[in-house]
Amino acid sequence: MKLSLLLLALCVLQNGAFAQPRKKGRTAPLGYTDTPILPGQKWKVHDIDRPRPKLVTPGNTPGAPPSDAIVLFDGKDLSQWEAPSKTGAKPPAWKVENGYMEVTTGGMVTKQKFGDIQLHLEWAAPAEIDGTSQWRGNSGVLLMDRYEIQVLDSYNNPTYADGQAGAIYAQWPPLVNASRKPGEWQTYDIVFEAPKFEGPKLVKPGYVTVFANGVLLHHRKEIGGRMSHRVVGTYEAHGAEEPLGLQNHDTSVRYRNIWVRRLAGYDQP
Ligand code: MG
Repeated sequence: MKLSLLLLALCVLQNGAFAQPRKKGRTAPLGYTDTPILPGQKWKVHDIDRPRPKLVTPGNTPGAPPSDAIVLFDGKDLSQWEAPSKTGAKPPAWKVENGYMEVTTGGMVTKQKFGDIQLHLEWAAPAEIDGTSQWRGNSGVLLMDRYEIQVLDSYNNPTYADGQAGAIYAQWPPLVNASRKPGEWQTYDIVFEAPKFEGPKLVKPGYVTVFANGVLLHHRKEIGGRMSHRVVGTYEAHGAEEPLGLQNHDTSVRYRNIWVRRLAGYDQP
């Protein structure tokens, strides 16, 4: 009782009085020219000349692609993908049915190349458990066809930490295990900053932020190098943009609703 009286008194002090009705149709400046420069920026506080962010229409439902997304798989066909081979690209062989694609033979990379991206995809491990550890629903999101965010059935599946679902494979385990049961659809939302090279020299490593099923697994974590197995992965210079890959690890993982947004910096016109 005493606490509620105190809160009421605070409200009255802050708002003047409840009796004062709010004025309608108030106008506010669209920006300012007489404010100080923000440290480290070319813009003033509330700068009237600062470019307004471009408009993006969000998807109608959670996980649906926004208006500036490049849809890489909408459940119908693999037209955005190819299968790399020693003799050049081939049409991808993965099965498409019922709105999803399923790992069969060969790997898959996008025809388009990407640098910094926001990526959304959904995946499901086989409902029937067959095998143990790294043989349970293993696949992977291969950023720039090199840096793997692990896809694995990690629901009650003992395996090494840096190989669990959402791991930066062979480097960092996910902060938590937020896995759903095998057979259930799971979401990955990934923000990736591509590494930068000058000639053969790495001048900025890659960074990745990962949400699985809405739960944070990595927060702008530095990537140590390309995906590796039983050895330390290192960087090797590559293009500013490279294809996005999905790993074939010989288990029937399914994917659906895959889209990316190319990321640009602040104040882009
Ligand atoms: Mg994998």
